[in-house]
Amino acid sequence: MKIAILGAGATGLTTALRLAQKTSSEITVFEKDSFLGGHASTFQVNSTPIEKGYHHWFTSDNKIIELMSELGLQNHIGWYESSVGTVFNSKIYDFMTPIDLLRYKPLSIINRISLGLSSLKISKIKNWHDLENFTAVDWLNKNVKPQIYHAFWEPMLIGKFGEEHYKEVGMPWLWGKMNTRFKSREGFLSKEKLGYPIGSFDILFNSLSQKCENLGVKIHLNSQVNQIKNNHGSLEVSISDAETLNFDAVIATVPSNVFHRITTGLEESYIEKLQNTRYMSAVQIILELKHQLSKYYWLNIADRSFPFVGVIEHTNLVNESIYGNSHIVYLSNYLTPKNSLYHLNKTELLEKYLPFLYQINNKFSENWIIKSHYQKIPGAQPIIESQYSNKMPTHETGIKNLYLGNTSQIYPEDRGTNYSVELGEKLAELLIKKSINN
Ligand SMILES: Cc1cc2nc3c(=O)[nH]c(=O)nc-3n(C[C@H](O)[C@H](O)[C@H](O)COP(=O)(O)OP(=O)(O)OC[C@H]3O[C@@H](n4cnc5c(N)ncnc54)[C@H](O)[C@@H]3O)c2cc1C
Repeated sequence: MKIAILGAGATGLTTALRLAQKTSSEITVFEKDSFLGGHASTFQVNSTPIEKGYHHWFTSDNKIIELMSELGLQNHIGWYESSVGTVFNSKIYDFMTPIDLLRYKPLSIINRISLGLSSLKISKIKNWHDLENFTAVDWLNKNVKPQIYHAFWEPMLIGKFGEEHYKEVGMPWLWGKMNTRFKSREGFLSKEKLGYPIGSFDILFNSLSQKCENLGVKIHLNSQVNQIKNNHGSLEVSISDAETLNFDAVIATVPSNVFHRITTGLEESYIEKLQNTRYMSAVQIILELKHQLSKYYWLNIADRSFPFVGVIEHTNLVNESIYGNSHIVYLSNYLTPKNSLYHLNKTELLEKYLPFLYQINNKFSENWIIKSHYQKIPGAQPIIESQYSNKMPTHETGIKNLYLGNTSQIYPEDRGTNYSVELGEKLAELLIKKSINN
């Protein structure tokens, strides 16, 4: 069987590996970019690769940890104690353990306890399907006090989905997010541990692609697929240089809007699902600093006067020595074109952001900045609405032997490389099962 896979990110490469291990098919991966890794790809800081958007693993990310072991990379994951803070009314509060929660001064002591209990309540919900009818905002407003909602939950939702979309997010998404974080702790009172591959996510993608190639998979970079169409039972795939090739099966791991654009002959009902899939772009300013900005790896910004929603100081997780002693800080936002910040360039964004860095550290000075970088990552975060099970596009597309697998089909967990590996394995199984039954 001749199989084409579109995309050399975590999903595409895992699908290729599993198909190559389990079948004797001829497998070709087409990747539009000149590099592997998609959303988890890297750029260089002082000759060391680092992700364009902050990346880490949770201890509960079993699938990707198993894959690292399978690739012989089990000793290449560093596990580090995470440190989390929250900025509220220009002050930073520790937010690592339930004890910190009890010290969270923006809320009265009664409300602090209530906040802890509300997080626990969410994590104890067994059947997330029961939450499908609720948006997160509706559920929280029914189940937590308004002060707690405004001081904690609302800023968290706005942080991920912006003012425009946070009210649409389904409660199962929040449930999935809370569960991942709870599972990443060894005990109720313990601090969270996070993993990061020694040598960046590049070591995973390089090793994964090498293993695929050893099994006969062909991986073509700089090969954008411009069209897929059904041609009398075989699937015709047109590549960037106008070459057209025929395949028995195609697995696309591209975003839903791209899949819609390049596929001819989809049924209306499927097109509707693709069109309803909406994404936010991640807009990241990455600073190389002479000094540490704060002591936290992860700073949630629950203060709506700030023009960014997260400060992720990567070198508070991983030692700065590997980046030539530069302290690496991501100033993170998730935006759509409707937000004016989306249209600003690096210099314009920095101008808006800098005054707020003084609020995080009053010693901060502009001459701490050695270098700054700008990354805009389209399709970074699908907007997961209520009733999403009915809205999510299926992997089978209605065109025989054409499958779709992307982050908008990861549910109820939040998207992440662990779930992309799981998805890649699922897609390979699905194709094998379907072709046996054909
Ligand atoms: C800012 C940010 C932070 C994140 N943080 C974390 C984290 O901490 N931990 C974690 O595990 N995950 C994190 N993620 C999520 C993780 O990066 C993604 O879930 C995962 O990489 C998605 O993999 P994928 O293969 O499904 O999609 P992608 O990585 O998007 O891969 C799809 C590939 O398809 C290619 N493609 C698109 N169109 C075409 C075409 N027409 N022809 C050929 N190729 C095409 C793309 O170039 C891309 O390489 C983060 C993501 C972002 C954006």
